[in-house]
Amino acid sequence: MLPTSISTRVAAAFGAVLALGLVLLGGGLLLGGVISTEHAAIAKLTTLLQAEDRQDQLQRRVRLGVGEVTRLAEQKRPISPAQWSGVSTALRAFHRGNMHPPALLTTSGDLRAMVSARSAAEARFAMLSLRLLYDARGAPVAIRARMPAFLDALRELEVARSAVRAALIQRIDQELKRSSRQISYHLERVLIGAITVLTVLLACMVWLRRRVLEPIVAIAQRVRQLSRGEDAWAQVPGFARRDEVGDLARGIADYRAAVEQRRRAERRIEFLAHHDMLTGLPNRLLFEQHLAQELRRVRRTGERLAVLAIDLDEFKSINDRFGHAGGDEALRNAAQLLSGCVRACDMVARLGGDEFAIIQIGGEQPDTAEALTQRILRACEATAGDPVPLQMSIGVALSGVELAGEELYNLADMAMYRAKAEGRHTARFFDDQFQEEVRLRWRLSRDLEGAAERGELYLAYQPIADAETLEVVGHEALMRWTHPELGEIQPDRFIPLAEASGRIDTIGLWMADQAMATASRWPDHMTLALNLSAIQFRQPALGHELLALARRHGVAPTRLEFEVTESATLLDNRRQPVMAVLRTLQHHGARIVMDDFGTGYSSLGNLRDFRFDKLKVDRSFVATMLNHAPSGSIVRSIAALGASLGIPIVAEGVESQAQLGQLRDLGIPQVQGFLIGRPSREALHCADPAALPASPEWVARH
Ligand code: C2E
Ligand code: CA
Ligand code: CA
Repeated sequence: MLPTSISTRVAAAFGAVLALGLVLLGGGLLLGGVISTEHAAIAKLTTLLQAEDRQDQLQRRVRLGVGEVTRLAEQKRPISPAQWSGVSTALRAFHRGNMHPPALLTTSGDLRAMVSARSAAEARFAMLSLRLLYDARGAPVAIRARMPAFLDALRELEVARSAVRAALIQRIDQELKRSSRQISYHLERVLIGAITVLTVLLACMVWLRRRVLEPIVAIAQRVRQLSRGEDAWAQVPGFARRDEVGDLARGIADYRAAVEQRRRAERRIEFLAHHDMLTGLPNRLLFEQHLAQELRRVRRTGERLAVLAIDLDEFKSINDRFGHAGGDEALRNAAQLLSGCVRACDMVARLGGDEFAIIQIGGEQPDTAEALTQRILRACEATAGDPVPLQMSIGVALSGVELAGEELYNLADMAMYRAKAEGRHTARFFDDQFQEEVRLRWRLSRDLEGAAERGELYLAYQPIADAETLEVVGHEALMRWTHPELGEIQPDRFIPLAEASGRIDTIGLWMADQAMATASRWPDHMTLALNLSAIQFRQPALGHELLALARRHGVAPTRLEFEVTESATLLDNRRQPVMAVLRTLQHHGARIVMDDFGTGYSSLGNLRDFRFDKLKVDRSFVATMLNHAPSGSIVRSIAALGASLGIPIVAEGVESQAQLGQLRDLGIPQVQGFLIGRPSREALHCADPAALPASPEWVARH
């Protein structure tokens, strides 16, 4: 307990009040005692006085009786027995009263002397009265001689009685005065005690009010303020006091500090949950919440808001060249760059990886968004001299009719992909034309479901021929779709949709089944080339399923070629499963062809990691090899590479004799293209060499 604690003080105060109360009680009892003692003394004196009065009356009756009897005796007249009896009774009573007086309580000498004098006078009077009565009865003549003594005794008695009475009255008076003094003396003290107790009690109450109740009320008010979050750092009143109130105030201050700490932790957790640690920007969660909220608002106000989907160009190569730290630096710079381009009311968020997004609020749309994209692209250009220059592709979508936040962002994202496809470092709006395209894509994607079952899909076979003899050595199966309303749809169009929706798995197996059924009817030496999409490799059983189909149709795996593009083999984290499928196929004698060779990002790296059985030079190089020197060089290099690695090369997209001639000159062993044969439902078993002007070497050899 604290030395100056309120409880000790209150205990002390109550102790004092109790002690005073006891003193007061003692005073009261004393006063009562005094009053009763005084009362007893006065009562005794009064009894004495009454006894004097009684004797006085008896004395009068005796005097009158004696006077009557003596007068009758002197006149010799008869005295009635009643007269005798009356006077003798009075005399006896008088004598008794004198013999048995009330006890005297005082030892005061004066009074005692007076009483004994009066008693002696009474005795003499009684004796002379008795003698006179004897005289009256027996010798009336003696009465006259005796009468003067009687009258003297009477006078003497009356004097003595008066003295006793006067003394008694004086004593009563004295006693009354004394007792009233005593009583008022004690009463005074009792009153003083009572006033002291009341004063102490009052002081206690005032002290309690000022030092305890008022501070507690102030603390309670402060706690209420704190709970409302007002003025969080103002001190709790009474904090410095060294008693229970101070203890309470410090306890509340501690509690407030703990609450504040917890609130800070909560705010931190809240921040972490809604922000990206690397850049400090809002994350996808906060972006989505904010977008939904802003969309609700603009729907009420009729404003339009813009969503920008932004992607860093070549981020992968930045990561490859500058490492993880360089990549992080680029992302931080990008965050700063974007934040510098927007206004305070806009939100820049990092959605993950190198994806950023902006919600732009207010302003005339689409002009404001257009201006923002220009600002961003210009800011990017300004980084050209930096160690890690930034380039971005931007897609913009504007809020319109009843679009959910996610949908609006998806539109911006699509526009961003379009911007990337259109050469990067540019912005693309999701406009009406785009909208139309997207709608068409959605429709095609939906209609693709069940297209094979409805017989809308079929396969075309394009011949692959020996470059020298132009003898057809095999066919590549290419998918075709005849849409009931839209007519022929190109595979470049619908294959990506089938990939995006995942339908490519079933469609791919369907086409393999069809193609193998067809190939089973071809001559045994004729090969069948099938295109495999990257998505299909997600099925680890793909290799076994394809081999099972070949078995079912009696097509030897050695007759099969599987064309894969680099995107399939490059799926970073899925590289191993892809390789496993390819090895399974290769292990059973099928050949793996790298399709579109030369267009990928690291074609040569792929050659190092997997032993391809054939490389297919992309048709874009073949198409331009004659009039575009770099393309010619690339085709030449690929031919040389094939020769040095011992991997056969096939050139696709051969349309002209000149191209064929050049390819033959480069020693490329196989060709494919419209010159040899267009894809058709019917497989060509042999190109007509006669229709083709032969190269000089070919002519020489044959
Ligand atoms: P690809 O595998 O590179 O197929 C070759 C494409 O070039 C075919 O287009 C073919 O018609 C075309 N072509 C052949 N010779 C010439 C020529 O001399 N000149 C020109 N300009 N083009 C020629 P197609 O059939 O439209 O197929 C496009 C792409 O669709 C294919 O490219 C392939 O990646 C994909 N694809 C087609 N069918 C399938 C399939 O069944 N499965 C998978 N996964 N992809 C397929
Ligand atoms: Ca192909
Ligand atoms: Ca190709």
